[in-house]
Amino acid sequence: GLTGNKGWRPVWRDPEPKSEYDVIIIGGGGHGLSTAYYLAKNHGITNIAVIEKGYIGGGNVGRNTTIVRANYFLPGNSEFYSHSLKLWEDMEQDLNYNTMHSGRGLINLFHSDGQRDSFARRGNMMCNQGDDAILLDREGVRKHLPYLDFENHRFPVYGGLYHPRGGTARHDAVAWGYARAADQLGVDLIQQCEVTGIDVKDGVVQGVQTSRGAIRAKRVGIVVAGRSSQVAAMAGLEVPIESHILQAFVSEGLKPAVDHVVSFGMGHFYLSQSDKGGLVFGGDLDFYASYAQRGNLPMMEHVMEAGMSLVPALGKAKVLRSWGGIMDMTPDGSFIIDRTKVEGLYMDCGWCYGGFKAVPASGWCMAHLMAEDKPHEVAKKHTFDRFRTGEGIMDEEGTGSQHN
Ligand code: FAD
Repeated sequence: GLTGNKGWRPVWRDPEPKSEYDVIIIGGGGHGLSTAYYLAKNHGITNIAVIEKGYIGGGNVGRNTTIVRANYFLPGNSEFYSHSLKLWEDMEQDLNYNTMHSGRGLINLFHSDGQRDSFARRGNMMCNQGDDAILLDREGVRKHLPYLDFENHRFPVYGGLYHPRGGTARHDAVAWGYARAADQLGVDLIQQCEVTGIDVKDGVVQGVQTSRGAIRAKRVGIVVAGRSSQVAAMAGLEVPIESHILQAFVSEGLKPAVDHVVSFGMGHFYLSQSDKGGLVFGGDLDFYASYAQRGNLPMMEHVMEAGMSLVPALGKAKVLRSWGGIMDMTPDGSFIIDRTKVEGLYMDCGWCYGGFKAVPASGWCMAHLMAEDKPHEVAKKHTFDRFRTGEGIMDEEGTGSQHN
């Protein structure tokens, strides 16, 4: 397919690290790249290094199931994810990159009267926030998703909460789009460079030690998702995060069959179809703490069973691949964008299994925090302090679990 397309040029530079930057971002995932981009674009700070131990897109940003939505319930999360979805909708123009964002609609199924009530409340919150939500009854769901098993007696489909603007985006294109846009604004993307230490003197950050030498900076952001607690420990910090595995699966390519994103929270299963035709699906965490980027068979079996119970025809599809990523889980399931007790050192972490949809707003708010040294309005509740005061943002408790 590439015949004749000779002379490809790299899309971003591959610079040698300088000895000093104004800002260092540790971690070249979605959140690190978007932070660097918005620091440059919104705040005019361009002397930035993004330091990535592997390659751009090799972490969770390229491992997720690509679901993008703004259907959160609790104040704090509602306004943040609403802001994020608006940024998604303008992203391709803003980055001048085809991220294949597709607002194909997301349906969260419910299976009891109690769950219907809680989904109705969530829908009201979404509408109050200015987002879109439609409560479907069983026949409404059947119209959109005729392939579900409506005879399932264990989890009968009572209806669904339809979020028409929810959908998907091509995850690695999002990483590449932010990387190229940040590079074009002068940000140095340093790949194959591991941060091995954080230099702190008298409570003030001085820079980082890396596998390619020491680099100084007055402001450092830790944006390393599943490695958050390990990298924070380099500065003597203990953070309320445990790392767990989340797996995902993709089938062989099929003709278009699944138009929406379907979330079956009761069975811990969700499904969509990629533009290449693969059915993309997943479930819950593997439920043990680990830094391995692969999962185990019991959860695979659980996901396949849940999928078959919802869509029996799934049994005819062959699974092509499965993989895992390291999730930075917080006790309340919500994220943290905050200063640390080390002056000049900031953290963006705790994305659990839902940080892909947050990529634009997270970068936007982290850039604001690092540039202005004060939290952005839509992320001001997401501090470390809430774990001390007990004011957690337990969205899953409020809405029924959803794992994407
Ligand atoms: P990453 O891409 O992991 O970036 C962190 C980077 O830091 C990595 O590249 C890593 O190499 C680097 N790093 C770590 N330590 C160091 C060091 N010492 N020095 C230098 N670099 C370092 N979210 C959704 O919203 N929707 C979904 O449908 C969804 N599905 C998911 C399905 C799966 C299977 C998984 C694994 C995750 C899913 N998520 C989903 C969650 C989402 O992918 C993550 O929350 C988000 O990508 C995390 O942020 P990131 O992109 O910055 O992480």
